[in-house]
Amino acid sequence: MTVVTRFAPSPTGFLHVGGAHTALFNWLFARHNGGKFLLRIEDTDRARSTEEAVKAILDGLTWLGLDWDGEVISQFSRVARHAEVARQMVAAGKAYPCYCTPEELTAMREQAAAEGRFTGYDGRWRDRDPSEAPAGVAPAIRLKAPREGETVIDDLIQGTVRVANDQMDDMVLLRADGTPTYMLAVVVDDHDMEVTHAVRGDDHFTNAFRQTQIYNAMGWQPPIFAHMPLIHGPDGKKLSKRHGAVAVGNYADMGFLPEAMRNYLLRLGWSHGDDEIIGTEQAIEWFGFEGVLRSPARFDMAKLTNLNGHYIRQAEDRRLVGLTLPRLRDSLGADFAEGTEDRLLAGMAALKERAKTLVDLADSAAFYVRRRPLPVDAAAAALLDAQARDMLAQIRRQLASVTAWKAENLEAVARAHAEGAGLKLGKVAQPIRAALTGATVSPPIFAVMEILGSEETLGRLDDVVKGIGHSEA
Ligand code: GLU
Repeated sequence: MTVVTRFAPSPTGFLHVGGAHTALFNWLFARHNGGKFLLRIEDTDRARSTEEAVKAILDGLTWLGLDWDGEVISQFSRVARHAEVARQMVAAGKAYPCYCTPEELTAMREQAAAEGRFTGYDGRWRDRDPSEAPAGVAPAIRLKAPREGETVIDDLIQGTVRVANDQMDDMVLLRADGTPTYMLAVVVDDHDMEVTHAVRGDDHFTNAFRQTQIYNAMGWQPPIFAHMPLIHGPDGKKLSKRHGAVAVGNYADMGFLPEAMRNYLLRLGWSHGDDEIIGTEQAIEWFGFEGVLRSPARFDMAKLTNLNGHYIRQAEDRRLVGLTLPRLRDSLGADFAEGTEDRLLAGMAALKERAKTLVDLADSAAFYVRRRPLPVDAAAAALLDAQARDMLAQIRRQLASVTAWKAENLEAVARAHAEGAGLKLGKVAQPIRAALTGATVSPPIFAVMEILGSEETLGRLDDVVKGIGHSEA
């Protein structure tokens, strides 16, 4: 049997972290089993299903690296098939037309509630002859659900759960206007797509019982269900906008790498011993529903951020340059010195050691590609007093005569200067750092000087010595 999973989002305008979590688990299970991962957009709500809303989902999945097999399937495009199945069920005596008006249904429910009875549909059209149909009324089609016995689900995560059939009423399959209900559409689509495993949030667990009744009525084999605990916010409530960003695209903007997000979403509600860092290949190898934790996991930004730092350190320098440059161009605007991009590549190995996000990385890299004169932050400005500027003027002269512009030679100049003046190296290096980077923290400063090159280094020192430039303080 080829494993077939699917992700079936409704377009809400963005890919929710919870949706991404569901998609990831479906994807991993399919890839682990050499199966297929299908994508179905549940776009029957036409008002919400705009092209942009669908694109936002595809973009989110693509960014996360969750590639789907085959074409994207539109649920809406299949309404004729859904209706056909409903009619087949009527023909087979498994479903029937119901001519109740909405008012009648409301009155029925209110009366049942007042009498403390089951408020579901009471089956009043279940056994009536079609000849009794009122003229000119279009019927809804309802499932002739079993009245006795129970519906059982062997869920890979929730275990075996039984619901007595007298707790479920005859659900509508096709509305009077001919449109399918969600329950019918999901079942018909999953069947036709030959889905073997329906993996989704446990907010759909109760639906699975009704859906199983439809499968049984059609004589179809239901998929194996796996209902995953939902993701909660730090306060233990279902993750929502109240907790901060919930769209995957926001995390991309905030400078998270897709592999970090994948690793984090995997660990959210799934474990493999004490392993925290689980790369994608490893995840595919290890994935199974045995590892799913039964209780909801809490979204922990600090953990995600730490993982991201790990993946940034692992990432290739050239890729990080590609991810950082557009951010720098955006944030620096006219202050971006075109033609300085190669400095980023040279400096990346050191820069990435300290960054937790691409935003940090771009911030800490900005001094490499800024146009002179550099802004100087308050702490750095405090180091650049008159005495320090005198010292920098002397060092600038000594540096100007260095012929091989290499970190070790530049460091030798600074050391010689420090020794001559009876200072510790740091007392010399810190003002140099402040002048060249505008900050008090940076990668090793002599390596920075080498990357900036002699002309830029001397120019930046000149700016400070001459008091050119502005302080952010
Ligand atoms: N469209 C549903 C949702 O977005 C998913 C239905 C399913 O996975 O069966 O929650």
